[in-house]
Amino acid sequence: MLRWLVQTAVLFGVLFGVVVGGRLVLNQLLQHPAPRAVEAQERITTPATTAIPVAPSPTPLATVTLPDDRAAGLTRPTPPPARSTPSPTPTLPPHGQTAPVPILMYHYIRPKPANDPLGAALSVDPETFAAQMDWLAAHGYTTLTLHELAEVRAGKIGLPPKPIVLTFDDGYRDFYTAAWPVLKRHGFKATIFIITGVVGNPQYMTWDMLRELDRSGLVEVGGHTVHHLDLTQLNASALEHEVADCKQTLETQLGHPIESFAYPAGRFNETVVSAVQRAGFTLAVTTKPGWARATDAPLVLPRVRIQGDLTLAGFADILGS
Ligand SMILES: [Zn+2]
Repeated sequence: MLRWLVQTAVLFGVLFGVVVGGRLVLNQLLQHPAPRAVEAQERITTPATTAIPVAPSPTPLATVTLPDDRAAGLTRPTPPPARSTPSPTPTLPPHGQTAPVPILMYHYIRPKPANDPLGAALSVDPETFAAQMDWLAAHGYTTLTLHELAEVRAGKIGLPPKPIVLTFDDGYRDFYTAAWPVLKRHGFKATIFIITGVVGNPQYMTWDMLRELDRSGLVEVGGHTVHHLDLTQLNASALEHEVADCKQTLETQLGHPIESFAYPAGRFNETVVSAVQRAGFTLAVTTKPGWARATDAPLVLPRVRIQGDLTLAGFADILGS
């Protein structure tokens, strides 16, 4: 009897072990597919991101192909249906980065001066400017700084719908008094190009104004040389001084790296572009007309000039609406 009891107990023990062990194995099998799917998903995504070549700096002028084209063409794998939790932070930005981006170019935001045709062409009336900004807001545009455009081009952030970059050359004081209140009201971002040699002069902004704008998080300060000379006409050391010292002064005054540059009067050649690259600027804008494409070389981006006499209909037309 005792023997029978022992045998039964042993049998039960074995059976119990088999059942529990089996369930554990079964659980293992059941649980495995999900992590494997994630792993597979990551394996598919990983090469896509790591395969994107990082644009080397120094980048040759004419032969720049940005990684965005290929990155944008890749489709992210669909998450496995069994997973209800969202997949981890996407490794690719959600929007295509091949879309051209208009970089608008402003100078003065002031009433048109009389008897000064050039000054008038460079001046956008404050009311006209406000109407243009209202129009952008009403039509769902998202403003980016040039620094952010560089991040888009590097694949670090996605391109928002209806992206636009607003740039203001020369650092005139009317940016602070007339443009900035309008931009701030809309929460719009802008990039301003500063001639360091004239900061604080009556017509130009002061370092205190520039620091305030810089701290706002909405305005990126970029370089526009020390004296606003035609850079194609300078000797090597003068060119170096105009480009590198401008950057150095801005960085000392604002306490952080300066990344964007605008060529005075849009004048540049290969020597000038090399100096801008050597100084360490990431993006530079010209006065060449056009929208900035992902395939454009980063140091010679075109812009869209906003003339003083442009009507609101003309403004809408330029932006293709
Ligand atoms: Zn200028």
